[in-house]
Amino acid sequence: MDKPHQTALYWFRRALRLDDNTGLARALETARSVVPVFILDPSLLTAPTTGAARTRFLFDSLAALDEALRERGSRLVVRRGKPVEELERLVEETGATALVFGREYEPFGRARDQAVETAMRCRGVAVEQADDHLLVEPGQVCTRAGTPYTVFTPFRRVWREQPVAVPIAAPMRIPSPEGIESEPLPASPAKAGVVSGEPLQEPRVRGGEVEAARWLDTFVESCLGTYDADRDVPGVEGTSRLSAYLRSGVVSARRVFARVRERRAASGADGRAGADTFLSELAWRDFYYQILWHFPHVEVGAFRQELNDLDWENDDAHFAAWTEGRTGYPIVDAAQRQLAREAWMHNRARMITASFLTKDLLIDWRWGETLFMQRLVDGDLASNNGGWQWAASTGTDAQPYFRIFNPVSQGEKFDPAGAYVKRWVPELARVPAKYVHRPWELTPAEQEAVGCVLGRDYPHRIVDHAAQREKALRLYRRRKEDK
Ligand code: FAD
Repeated sequence: MDKPHQTALYWFRRALRLDDNTGLARALETARSVVPVFILDPSLLTAPTTGAARTRFLFDSLAALDEALRERGSRLVVRRGKPVEELERLVEETGATALVFGREYEPFGRARDQAVETAMRCRGVAVEQADDHLLVEPGQVCTRAGTPYTVFTPFRRVWREQPVAVPIAAPMRIPSPEGIESEPLPASPAKAGVVSGEPLQEPRVRGGEVEAARWLDTFVESCLGTYDADRDVPGVEGTSRLSAYLRSGVVSARRVFARVRERRAASGADGRAGADTFLSELAWRDFYYQILWHFPHVEVGAFRQELNDLDWENDDAHFAAWTEGRTGYPIVDAAQRQLAREAWMHNRARMITASFLTKDLLIDWRWGETLFMQRLVDGDLASNNGGWQWAASTGTDAQPYFRIFNPVSQGEKFDPAGAYVKRWVPELARVPAKYVHRPWELTPAEQEAVGCVLGRDYPHRIVDHAAQREKALRLYRRRKEDK
C-alpha cells in the first residue's frame, strides 16, 4: 500500500518503549521512513521538581530504547533545546512531512504541544497524537450530564465497563534515513544540570523495557494472587513496583492490564481478588489524570478552592525533621528514610507520612508534594498531586477533613511486627514489637537495655499527635466557618 509520507518524525516523550506504542506504529504506517526523536529540554532538567533519581531512570530508559531501535535498523536521534525549534530544525533536515507523538495531560505539556502543533501546521507538517499513556482517556468516562467524575467510586464503576484495546507488538523493523545527526545519549543527571534529589538514592528499579518486563513477570507470577491482602503492608514486598515504568511509559498500561486480566481469567474464582484489587489501582491512576486534565488548577492549588491557603504553620525545623526521617514517630521516619534511600515509598507509608506533614505538623501539602517530586523515581504530577490532596483533604475525595491518621495506630495496624520500621530505622531494631511504634512508653532502663535511648539514639517526638490533631481540626473548621 502506498504511504502518504516519505518521512515522519516520531517524538518520544513518555511512551519510552517499542512494545504497544501505537503512535510509533502510526508513524510507520503513514511514512516510508521514520526518525525516532528525543528532545532534552534544559529548562525541564533544571526545574525544582526534577529529581536526580527520576532523571537517571529516564536516561537509562533512553539508552535501552536506542539499543532496541538499533536492533531494528534505526537509532534514537537526541536533540537538546526547545521542542518547537528542534522539531522545526529536524523537519528542515529530514524533509519530514508528518509528526506523531503521544498525548500529554499536564498543563505544561499541553501548552507545549499546542505550540508545536501550530508551528508544524504552519510548515505543512501533518500532526497526530496517539493515546498511549492511560487505559481510559479523560472525557471517556463522564456522568450522565456529561461532566467529569470528581469522586473515585462512581468513576471506577463506569471505568470498569470501558473497552481497553489489545496491546500491539513492537515493530520488527524501523526504516530510518541515514546520516541524521544526534547528540550523544545523556548519561549523568548531574552533568545534565539536574540539581535536586538525593545523590545517594539507589532505586530498586532501573530504566528500560527489559527491566519493566522483568518486574511485571515477577509480580504477576509471585505477588498478584495475594495482592489484595499484601498491598497495604509496607513490610511485605507485595506490590508491583511498576510505578516508575508506568509513569514514563516504559511499560504500556494496556500491556499490564492485559497480562493481569489474562492471569485473572486463568485463576479460580477465589484467586481473582488480587487481580481485581490491582486493576482498581490502575483506575486510580486514570482517575487522577482525568482530574488534572479537567481541573488543571490543581497543579498549583486545592481542588476545593475554598480550602486554598489554610493557615499552615510551615515550621522549617519541623519540615527538615520530617524530610530527614527524625520526627520521633517510627512509621513516619521509616517512610521518609525509604524515600531518601530507594526513591520510592510504599503507598500506605505515603498516606501516613503525607497525613503527618499536613495534619500533625500543619505544613502546606505543596511542600511535601514538591519534596516527593524531587525524590521519587515515579514522581508524577497527576498521581502525586492527587495523593497529597487526598491526604490534606483538599482534593476530590469525599474524605472529611476530620479523618486524621494516628501514626501510632496506623503503624500498629499495618506494620504489626514492626518489620518495616526496623528495616528503615535500625535504631529500633531491638525494641519489642509492642513498643516499636511507641518507643516513648519504654522506661529509661528498658530503653537502655534495647540500645535505644530517646534523645540519644532516636529522637523524642517533635510534636504531640493528640494536641496537633486538635489544632488541625481548628484550622480546617475555621476555614469552613469563614466560607
Ligand atoms: P502497585 O500497588 O503495584 O499499583 C500498581 C500501579 O497502580 C502503580 O504502579 C500506579 O501506577 C497505580 N497506582 C497505585 N495506587 C495509586 C494511587 N493511589 N494513585 C494513582 N495511581 C496509583 N504514584 C505515582 O505513580 N507517582 C507519584 O508521584 C505518586 N505520589 C503519591 C503521593 C502520595 C501522597 C500518595 C498517597 C500516593 C502517591 N502515588 C503516586 C500513588 C501510589 O502510592 C504509587 O503509585 C504506588 O505506591 C507505586 O508502587 P507500585 O507500583 O508498587 O504500586
